[in-house]
Amino acid sequence: MRITVLGKSPSWQDANGACSGYLIEEDGFHLLLDCGNGVFSKLRRFIDYVDVDAVVISHLHADHFLDLVPYAYALTYAPRQQPVPVDRWPGTDCPACPDLHVPPGATDLFRRVVGAWGNEDLIEKAFELREYDPAAPLEVGPLRLRFQPVPHFTETNAVEIASSNGGGRITYGADHAPAEALVDFARDTDLLIIEATLPRPEREGPRGHVTPGEAGEHARKAGARRVVLTHFSDELGEDWARREAEATYGSRVEVAHEGAAYDV
Ligand SMILES: [Zn+2]
Ligand SMILES: [Zn+2]
Repeated sequence: MRITVLGKSPSWQDANGACSGYLIEEDGFHLLLDCGNGVFSKLRRFIDYVDVDAVVISHLHADHFLDLVPYAYALTYAPRQQPVPVDRWPGTDCPACPDLHVPPGATDLFRRVVGAWGNEDLIEKAFELREYDPAAPLEVGPLRLRFQPVPHFTETNAVEIASSNGGGRITYGADHAPAEALVDFARDTDLLIIEATLPRPEREGPRGHVTPGEAGEHARKAGARRVVLTHFSDELGEDWARREAEATYGSRVEVAHEGAAYDV
């Protein structure tokens, strides 16, 4: 199983960057995990977007789903989608419709977003839209997904990806405040992809993110075998972030770069 970083920025893009998006490949199957602003363009560097089999969204913040809008326009209006390429889907007249697995409530939220300019059904017509139950495992092609709700400013799910062909596990924390539930969920994982958004803990109000030092602490407590920091700004300083995380993890930590790939 291979995971490629398409975007690692927080809720605003790095210079020339993209927000959250990861491409997972296993046995010819392609899963896009989160689709934040800028991700559709980055995706196209690696794969033809009609060859994505499924998309999974961790939570309904703009930096994790907003590029579903241009993606849906491409699936609907790209010249080769008209006429419908029936040879790719024998026996159907359906154009490329990747499965889109979204948190509960996403259908209504998408209608409000694209409905703002009168395109209410844009996303649900372009994709095979399904709201998942975070309490239930999800089989997506050869991949087995599990979800773990984590504390954030909106309902958010960490996602575990494992192959049904055996092999390792990837744990993606999504966005979260410090969370024992994530430590348990990521126990002994082969690869923990964990956010490191903050230069210091939030000074007031409820917490919603972690610092690099806190990310390293989660990884150490979980016994994660390999750690990649993500969801941090190029303004934060990746060397500083790595040092902070290594001090609490107690070993080497990697920082996400666009295009970096990890095999599990
Ligand atoms: Zn985010
Ligand atoms: Zn978020």
